[in-house]
Amino acid sequence: MEDYKLYIDGKFENAESGDTYKSINPYNGEAIATIPQGSARDADRAIRAARKAFDEGPWPRMAGEERSALIGKAAGLLKERMKDYARLESLDSGGTINKTGADAFLAARQLAFFAEQAKRFNGEPEEIPGLQREGRSFNYVIREPMGVCAQIIPWNFPYMMAIWKLGPALATGNTVVLKPASLTPVMALELARVCDEVGIPPGVVNIITGPGGEMGAAMTEHPLVDKVAFTGSTEVGRDIMAKAAGTLKKVTLECGGKGANIVLDDADWDVAVDGSIWASFYHQGQVCESGTRLMLSAKDHDGFVEQMVDKLNAMKMGDPLDKETQLGPVVSEGQMKSVLDYVAIGKGEGAKLMCGGARATGGDLDKGCFVRPTLFTGVTNDMRIAREEIFGPVLAVLKYGSEDEAVALANDSIYGLSGGVWSRNIDRARKVAGRLRTGTVWINEWHMLSERAPFGGYKQSGVGREFGDEGLGEYCELKTLYIDDAKTRENKPWYDMVVARG
Ligand code: NAD
Repeated sequence: MEDYKLYIDGKFENAESGDTYKSINPYNGEAIATIPQGSARDADRAIRAARKAFDEGPWPRMAGEERSALIGKAAGLLKERMKDYARLESLDSGGTINKTGADAFLAARQLAFFAEQAKRFNGEPEEIPGLQREGRSFNYVIREPMGVCAQIIPWNFPYMMAIWKLGPALATGNTVVLKPASLTPVMALELARVCDEVGIPPGVVNIITGPGGEMGAAMTEHPLVDKVAFTGSTEVGRDIMAKAAGTLKKVTLECGGKGANIVLDDADWDVAVDGSIWASFYHQGQVCESGTRLMLSAKDHDGFVEQMVDKLNAMKMGDPLDKETQLGPVVSEGQMKSVLDYVAIGKGEGAKLMCGGARATGGDLDKGCFVRPTLFTGVTNDMRIAREEIFGPVLAVLKYGSEDEAVALANDSIYGLSGGVWSRNIDRARKVAGRLRTGTVWINEWHMLSERAPFGGYKQSGVGREFGDEGLGEYCELKTLYIDDAKTRENKPWYDMVVARG
């Protein structure tokens, strides 16, 4: 069994306490790796290493091309090791090999993108049109790294989330302390090895593991940290924002969602039925941008649900490493219990259970945390199963009368991460998309993301963006320089106004 260490200041170390725990494969309950159980003291050591590397080390001062070369080398290794990493991620998280294979491919591509972007971050002057005062002064803006970034990530996409955090922070010259979720720490610890192997200087990347409450608070409140970047639940996001307020840190938050998936009455069912399953059941529904509220017109409702239920009942559950498996286990016993609790809540609220709603058992499934794909009809938007993020294979179907009503239902949520519209008429779908208060909208698609476009949430789904120029900008401070080139005192406007008149 692999024995991982914390990675602090370029060294692989045990937690100060010497404590460890085991990461468990949710498919069969077997331990797959030994993980250090760090504490606030380890977080403090990691933050101090990152501070030193930022204040005194080469990384923030290195030419963008040089940083790019090192990050690019790491991206190359990720590409070479795609298959191994996909397998590891499946064992750690229960994600099917099809999902983790896609993640491993995307993680390598995304890191290569950030390597390319690093070339642009050299502290070079950026001119702003109209800022110069001809012959009198020259003025410009430079982008500088923000400093020490504390990064906290969730368990649902452990590998990609680590890349989404490390990539932009490193490309722009920051130093980092990253903490993965306790349930799925393996890929972040593998990335520590990669950073070490390619020669990223000591202290630039520090990876620590341990309890979220204690270590997360230490990272969020620490006076030597400049920025906190968090992906996880809205509840913890709120806590982080409150704790970061004490030192007024820069904060970006990628939080929960309750995506509204609107099937218009002219949708092509050939794509919309499968597409709605893809939108809500991918990775057992443990995806922030999932379309977990399906909105069907009264005319379509019964037929559409019937087709979905047939397909959901036929979905193949089993070993995540088997390519034929469509649904793996949810991430842990605790998550399985939480999902089944929501099923009970839905029933109690009066929603109608059309399929699933129970643990899946029989044969190999007995050992794992399997939940049958579940669909509720008769859901109203005031029910908890329509308002709260369940984060499991549970879909709530809502019936609408008019397009306006569908839009109103979609927007009646504290969340605003994602939405989707299915229609044969793209103009019509675009009008509906324009009315949705969410950071991403898909038309006849779901889950498609590009590292070149910003991703993030309206409302309580988040603060700030990842990816695109905006995502890189979240890791930069802007410094504006005004340099007065006037040769004489008389040319300085403030002199007359203040000094000369005394
Ligand atoms: P979580 O909020 O429970 O934990 C996320 C991370 O925060 C973990 O590393 C955890 O250890 C740490 N943490 C826990 N308590 C903390 C505290 N008090 N202070 C600081 N850190 C703390 O989330 P999760 O269950 O790991 O992941 C699922 C959630 O993540 C869902 O809500 C999902 O929507 C969200 N998510 C959002 C996005 C996005 O891009 N918007 C992407 C993936 C997941």
